[in-house]
Amino acid sequence: MTSATDLRYNQSQVEHARRRQVIAGGVNSNVRLAGTPVPLTIARGDGALLWDVDDNVYIDYAAGMGPMVLGHNHPDVVAAVQLSLSTGQLFAGQNTFEAEFAETLIGALPWIESIRIGMSGTEMDLLAVRIARATTGHSKVVRFAGHYHGWLDPLFVNMAVTPEPMGPVPLTPGQSVSAASDIILCEWNDLAQVAQALESGDVACVLMEPVMCNTGLIPPSDGYLQGVKDLCRQHGALFVVDEVITGFRLGLTGAQGLYGVQGDISIYAKAIASGFPLAVLGSSTELLASVGRGEVNHSGTYNTGVSSIAAGIATLRVLIDTDPYAEIDRLTRRLADGFVQLGQQLGVDLAVDHIGGGLFQTRFGKAEPTTSRADFATNSDGALLARFLENLQNHGVRPTSRGLWFVSAVHDDDLVDKTLAAAERALGES
Ligand code: PMP
Repeated sequence: MTSATDLRYNQSQVEHARRRQVIAGGVNSNVRLAGTPVPLTIARGDGALLWDVDDNVYIDYAAGMGPMVLGHNHPDVVAAVQLSLSTGQLFAGQNTFEAEFAETLIGALPWIESIRIGMSGTEMDLLAVRIARATTGHSKVVRFAGHYHGWLDPLFVNMAVTPEPMGPVPLTPGQSVSAASDIILCEWNDLAQVAQALESGDVACVLMEPVMCNTGLIPPSDGYLQGVKDLCRQHGALFVVDEVITGFRLGLTGAQGLYGVQGDISIYAKAIASGFPLAVLGSSTELLASVGRGEVNHSGTYNTGVSSIAAGIATLRVLIDTDPYAEIDRLTRRLADGFVQLGQQLGVDLAVDHIGGGLFQTRFGKAEPTTSRADFATNSDGALLARFLENLQNHGVRPTSRGLWFVSAVHDDDLVDKTLAAAERALGES
């Protein structure tokens, strides 16, 4: 029997069935397998809105998993990309956009002197580890359970939500076990564990999300970032800060600006190019010199494709010139406070973690912010969250499938009002 919900997503069902014949699972990133009643097929996006192939309209808080900080089809980005299309895309050589992009990015992030540009956060994280090994002569990487640094073998280690035995546990069949054995895992916000890990003496770098965004939204505790940086200095390891989510999202200078602690190497991706494939590794000139001399390898056929880099320049220019973050922060607070109030009104334990900027996590558990992975696991009821998210989607609101919300420069008070009204109905049905 066909339910009303199935009918509402009829065309998405048809599209998904068609794709599944020829594309494994019908999706091209395993994260997208999550979807009720099917992974949706989106027909188009504009501003803060998405339309699926059944003509359902959604207020978009998934933001392409973060990149759409200016919303869909920002006119400046569209104009820059349109112009770039007439110049050709790849020349097996440099293009005139590269210097401008690098100067613009470095102008916004004073602790960065030199960059390399790639296509994804995953590969820039791997380049960071390579530079750290080449620079220090050490081999191990300290990272944190619950953080995510891409899907490739050397870093795709133990990011499960539930507490489990620590150690380098590969996360997928087919993964090299020996690659994972270069990882030393620590729990987030536990400085003693980092100190102990560095004692081994063979650590090339400590790699972290400066705010844990891939398991809940858990900020560093007071003094933690500086503590880690000091320990790195003490033990001759590099401090690598992965700002793939937080960069140009929490504010113009990201988490490193917010907390006043800067890494030796910084990674940026998502919010820098409005959905076009562009990622950056930045550091001092000295740290990147070995790459510049051709000793440490970094390559890529598609690096600095003209459209991507034109999109990057336009995106950064708009962000720098308009500085939308105070307004994004205000709207995000309205949403976060509104959700908490709704939870109280309806007697539901809806909690919101928000640390400023256009990013927050909804979960069902205690109201106080979560401080660790275990704390998050016991204070985020997955079944309640899944029902809430499904009901929200049916009422035209679409955050990410793990309850992380991205608020962009094109959301406004009217959309926040509509979102809160939808959330009230969704919670009532959950
Ligand atoms: N680092 C972090 C913190 C991320 O959240 C992600 C992706 N969500 C990555 C790295 C990998 O980036 P990409 O998907 O562009 O390879």
